[in-house]
Amino acid sequence: MTDLDQLVADVRACRVCAPVLPLGPRPIVQVSSQARLLIASQAPGAKVHEKGLAFWDDSGNRLRDWLGLGRDVFYDPERVAILPMGFCYPGRLSAGGDRPPRPECAPLWRDRVLALMPAVRLTLLVGTYAQAHVLGPAPMTGRVRDYRAYLPRYFPLPHPSWRTNVWAARNPWFVESVLPALRAEVACALDR
Ligand code: SF4
Repeated sequence: MTDLDQLVADVRACRVCAPVLPLGPRPIVQVSSQARLLIASQAPGAKVHEKGLAFWDDSGNRLRDWLGLGRDVFYDPERVAILPMGFCYPGRLSAGGDRPPRPECAPLWRDRVLALMPAVRLTLLVGTYAQAHVLGPAPMTGRVRDYRAYLPRYFPLPHPSWRTNVWAARNPWFVESVLPALRAEVACALDR
């Protein structure tokens, strides 16, 4: 068993947030020491928790379309890693929408997992929580528009939920210029 295998086993056994997770702990990550592309996302939703597979839902279909990747590559851990800011479904807000990622998770696990993933070339910062954790707080729209400032290491993106359709309609530059650049960067990162 490799150090990464052992660490992932420790992650899967984690119960730190058990008292506050409405559906209980079910950490959902996809990692390997060979992955070139890292998707730093937010936290699993209820459907992903139930299925146990990251981004298998409509948000995942939208994200795969943005990246120009089929499921075969997206779910190949030797090429693509998926590491959300919170590994378990955090529950719903009373006002609607999911709760933020559990704040215990990233400080406890993220750096230790990343230290065992030396092949990552490009990290997609998907949504405001990932961007704030890695880059510090700032408005998401400006960050996405200025994506070139974060290359070659990072590429900030909105969360690919259905709400992003409204945001993209207001910001047509995202589809016209950011997505083609994103696909090129992703293809370059995955190129062997
Ligand atoms: S969210 Fe992270 S820290 Fe909390 S129980 Fe799940 S794996 Fe553990």
